[in-house]
Amino acid sequence: ERGMKMLEYLERGPWPSYVTELKRTKYPIEAYAEGLARKYTPWLSGSFRVRYVFSGILARRSRDGKFVEIHFRTYAPAGRFYSTSYLRKVVEVAKRYGIGLMEFGGNTGALVLNMIAEKADEAVDAIRTIMGSDVGGSGDTFREFYACPGPALCEFALYDTLHAMDYIRSHPAFYRYLNTQMFPYKIKFKFSGCPMDCATANSRADFALIGTWVGAPEVDQGLFRKMVEEGKINPKEIVDSCPSKAISWNEEKKELNIDGSKCLKAMNCIKKAFPAIRPGRNRKIALLVGAHIQGHFGPKLARAVALLDSVEEIVPFATELINKYMELAPRRHRIGDMIIRRGFKVISEVADKTLPNKTRGTPSSHLRISIGTNLTDDEREMYENWA
Ligand code: SF4
Repeated sequence: ERGMKMLEYLERGPWPSYVTELKRTKYPIEAYAEGLARKYTPWLSGSFRVRYVFSGILARRSRDGKFVEIHFRTYAPAGRFYSTSYLRKVVEVAKRYGIGLMEFGGNTGALVLNMIAEKADEAVDAIRTIMGSDVGGSGDTFREFYACPGPALCEFALYDTLHAMDYIRSHPAFYRYLNTQMFPYKIKFKFSGCPMDCATANSRADFALIGTWVGAPEVDQGLFRKMVEEGKINPKEIVDSCPSKAISWNEEKKELNIDGSKCLKAMNCIKKAFPAIRPGRNRKIALLVGAHIQGHFGPKLARAVALLDSVEEIVPFATELINKYMELAPRRHRIGDMIIRRGFKVISEVADKTLPNKTRGTPSSHLRISIGTNLTDDEREMYENWA
């Protein structure tokens, strides 16, 4: 009864209610309500198997144990661009084997289909043959890769995140781990086209590739002055919005100056004054490692490793680091936990070997994705001593 009251409460209010939506499906909502009231978790971890499928399947049971539905994680297109023909195939599979519930935009990065347990074997076949996709992305494997829409939709994209995700996910060096649980814990790759980091790579990815540039953003002084005259932007606001105090405004010359050596690529000025201020032309991909929410020593932000010129350059580094991770990390430790136990030296050694000529990060350069251009004297000294 208490659970049902909670359901009623969750349907009130002017906003859409997921309870109302779930009632339209075959999802066991009453059993869910009972679990909600008792703080019971419906997940049946590890106790449901489909032959020859080693990851991507999670079972959820109703409180009375009578109903089990299976949550299938399937690989999604980069940037989550679904063609209508693909969506038709998804609907066909879901109608035949599903309970009417799909998740397109969850933060796993995967397209999740909820299926009936008795039909799980057939559902896997249909996902493979009809949709042309596969099931995977849970457990101690690569989790589903995730890229921001990048150049397809966004004027800020500094590299092709969609190509990068497809390239890495289908690369033979990584493809072989997609579905087999061989790591101490999960590994995530995320791709953000610019430092605004819509893929949350800096806080959630073991391997983060974030578009950036070297030096100052580019300023079109004529256009900037025009936007100021038209009252569209206020130079003082632009100056104040810079967290690294890299911007100054010359009132006499009506000129905006940005010190590239101080710029931390916060993008605040670009967001406010685009297109008069744009990212610089010397574009790079910042490689950061070791971020996660779930890990042995708690959540961590990523640490900057190097500035790359192309996504292909990450392959030897990532392959070598994954081998080290499998060799050195205990169960349920993420790459960030390995850095805490073994030191950033593990990363430096792999980078020395595989990225010898690249501008490098420092043990402390968490958010400094403009690696090498903005090191304080202390950081530089620490890095040199460390090396
Ligand atoms: Fe655009 Fe940058 Fe967000 Fe990608 S991360 S969608 S490039 S703002």
